Amino acid sequence: MKVIDKIKNAKSTLFTFELLPPLKGHTIQEIYDTIDPLIEFNPAYINITYHQQEVVYKTRPDGLMEKRVIRKRPGTVAIASAIQNKYKITVVPHMICGGFTKEETEDALIDFHFLGIDNLLALRGDPDKGKRKFVPEKGGHTYTSDLIEQIMNLNKGKYLHEDLEDAMPTNFSVGVAGYPEKHIEAPNLDADLENLKLKVEKGAEYIVTQMFFDNQKYFDFVEKCKNVGINVPIIPGIKPVSTLNDISLLPQTFNIDLPNDLIKEIKKCKTIKDVRQVGVEWAIEQSKELIKSNVPGIHYYTLDQSDNIKKIVKAVF
Ligand code: FAD
Repeated sequence: MKVIDKIKNAKSTLFTFELLPPLKGHTIQEIYDTIDPLIEFNPAYINITYHQQEVVYKTRPDGLMEKRVIRKRPGTVAIASAIQNKYKITVVPHMICGGFTKEETEDALIDFHFLGIDNLLALRGDPDKGKRKFVPEKGGHTYTSDLIEQIMNLNKGKYLHEDLEDAMPTNFSVGVAGYPEKHIEAPNLDADLENLKLKVEKGAEYIVTQMFFDNQKYFDFVEKCKNVGINVPIIPGIKPVSTLNDISLLPQTFNIDLPNDLIKEIKKCKTIKDVRQVGVEWAIEQSKELIKSNVPGIHYYTLDQSDNIKKIVKAVF
């Protein structure tokens, strides 16, 4: 079933969560171990992130540097399909622009279509590690709106090679990312919202937000979206704080602010367990307020650990 139909048919806020494929060399059982404790709360669907290749430099025994291209977390397509089969649940794999030519994008979309996966979260991907600017693959997409256009063309049976006869249309439903505190590269929030609107005009049916720790930022964002004519459901993304380093890492990585009260509570913590408990309590309060204001769903960022998400979901759903 399409995510947008689940949202439209829902009588209350949907519970959803996001998983990362395990690091290379680990097993899919780790994914199942994350899902199993959460399945009793009836998740509406499960997102699976996509991870681009990275360039790493290794020092060889002769002292020279060797360039290697590695993918630390492969397996998105297979994991999505395995979860769908094992749990009979809707899956939403992420599809990114980075690292894909348009032809490779088309092939990946055909794989999803053949696997019976018709929900995707379309994203651009971040710049390569250490780089400030996103560089698309030669012949790939620069912005998510371009990727959505390709997906929507496929939904009309329009493949890259126009000479295909009687080409079957796909049936993808696409969600996109939105940034209540602005995407890091956008010159200002208004400009970012114009680009978000373009993604919706191209065919995105709902928005999932970047994590935020102050609900007012989400409420203001929803209002601003409405003011510029973005009228699709906006699903808030929630991540419980889980390490002391989150105080500096989350703002740096995701261009978000942490409220003073949360920082104070984290700083009082003596152990990692204490920090995780603070994260859980904060996320419970955020979730309760969001549900009270009838948000369509809450998208929890698990980072493949479900003990804290289980405590939150148990308290609010
Ligand atoms: P876009 O919508 O393309 O926007 C990127 C930037 O370009 C923005 O600043 C925007 O304002 C600007 N822009 C957009 N269109 C135009 C235009 N036409 N002209 C000029 N400027 C424009 N990353 C992964 O690699 N894998 C994942 O699985 C993944 N999952 C995510 C899930 C969620 C819910 C979120 C919020 C993020 C996720 N990301 C993931 C991170 C995401 O890839 C990055 O945030 C990336 O930097 C931007 O992606 P986007 O789709 O928002 O890009």
